[in-house]
Amino acid sequence: MRLLLFDIDGTLVDALGAGKAALGRAMLRVYGETGPIESFEFHGKTDPAIVRGLLRAAGWSDADIEGGFEATWSAYLEALDDELEQRDGSVKTFPGVEPLLRAVEADARFAPGLVTGNMESGASLKLGAAGLDRRFRYGAFGSDSETRDDLPPIALDRAERAYGQSFDLGAAVIVGDTPDDIRCARANGARVLAVSTGRHTVQELREHGPDAVFENLSDTPDVLRMLTDE
Ligand SMILES: [Mg+2]
Repeated sequence: MRLLLFDIDGTLVDALGAGKAALGRAMLRVYGETGPIESFEFHGKTDPAIVRGLLRAAGWSDADIEGGFEATWSAYLEALDDELEQRDGSVKTFPGVEPLLRAVEADARFAPGLVTGNMESGASLKLGAAGLDRRFRYGAFGSDSETRDDLPPIALDRAERAYGQSFDLGAAVIVGDTPDDIRCARANGARVLAVSTGRHTVQELREHGPDAVFENLSDTPDVLRMLTDE
């Protein structure tokens, strides 16, 4: 079986800015400011890395930033729930995501899971809002490590426990929408399918040397061919 490690934002789900809005509300409550939240590049970063980056840019020390983490995550979850509720019915999966997930779930060659910068509980809320709750048996999250590159081995451990067999990151495929997903795959010896449903164009993604780039995941047979390639 091969691990398929899906990113969430920009890859599976368009949360319509709910995450950013919620994080801004949480940071205002806990730190009293959001740093340069409008110009900051969120995509591809873990939630803790986003908060740290925003506050460092505003001159905060790492100790003061970390001191607010716990309160931030609980404020964030509450705000995210509310932001998703406000977008009720509009938060969607990108084209082709549903049929692709159905195909890989029904295919014994694949073990589909998550590698995402979202806090685990935030990931559940976003997936739930897009109708994808409880679709993944394992994952690694921003709540496991602030550094995205640390996440695939954590996902592998959890997959081994969930499926009761061993896996190889060298045979895994990361599916993501940013240069950070591509770098994360390379750092872990995994293959990577990039998709331009997030902020980056096919051309921009191609410059980072993914194994394949798709505009979206709607051509299921073509995507499956890439995912099964040796
Ligand atoms: Mg993403």
